[in-house]
Amino acid sequence: MREHQVLVVEDEQDIARLLHLHLTEANCQVTLAADGHQGMRQAFSRHWDLVILDLRLPGPDGLSICRALRREQVYVPVLILTSKSSELDRVLGLELGADDYVSKPFSVSELMARVKAIFRRVESFERRFASTGEILNVGPLSIDTGGREVLLNGQPVSLTAREFDLLQHFASHPGQVFSRAQLLDSVWGYGHEGYEHTVNSHINRLRSKVEPDPAQPELITTVWGVGYKLDTAPAAARSEGHAADNVVSLSA
Ligand code: CA
Repeated sequence: MREHQVLVVEDEQDIARLLHLHLTEANCQVTLAADGHQGMRQAFSRHWDLVILDLRLPGPDGLSICRALRREQVYVPVLILTSKSSELDRVLGLELGADDYVSKPFSVSELMARVKAIFRRVESFERRFASTGEILNVGPLSIDTGGREVLLNGQPVSLTAREFDLLQHFASHPGQVFSRAQLLDSVWGYGHEGYEHTVNSHINRLRSKVEPDPAQPELITTVWGVGYKLDTAPAAARSEGHAADNVVSLSA
């Protein structure tokens, strides 16, 4: 793996030191920020391959930093460290758009597995598409795989790195149904059980950005009991009144 530039925003010195040690061993160039003010400043100061954010910080907390990055359309991969599972929905949900999280207390091997999965995913997508710079057109979507830009009916859509990868994965296999486990494997790079809600929340976020009516998805549709697919003939080919679809997507 090439050297990665990683920003760690963590006020607990023991944890910061531990992360520094293990990330450096994994060929990362690590910058530490010990509070939210430093973290915010550093996060915007340059290009990072990964930002690791503790949630509880003096000054602006991890949520504020993540929110600020996304608001400024900085789609660097963000990994959140959290000690409260009740925060996960906010972390992964529409509001913030983190790529992944690790619950405190965490094992170093678990954290490093997540970090490496993020790097592998980004690099495999870069390798697969950067050379070709292919444009994928599916329904109203036009996906520039080289420039990592998405147009919806000609209008640019802002996606996080993970949302882009997810959409690109679907668009590379139009009409094909993927289970949540398959999506975790292909897009996240790991196939843990019990992380289905990670897929669900990213699907919901993606829908909120590309679907005319996210409550009645026409592009990224739920296949009941199986998973999701990108519909190649959305809207036009379908009739009005999607009550049944709606029930399916809500219960999925
Ligand atoms: Ca803390």
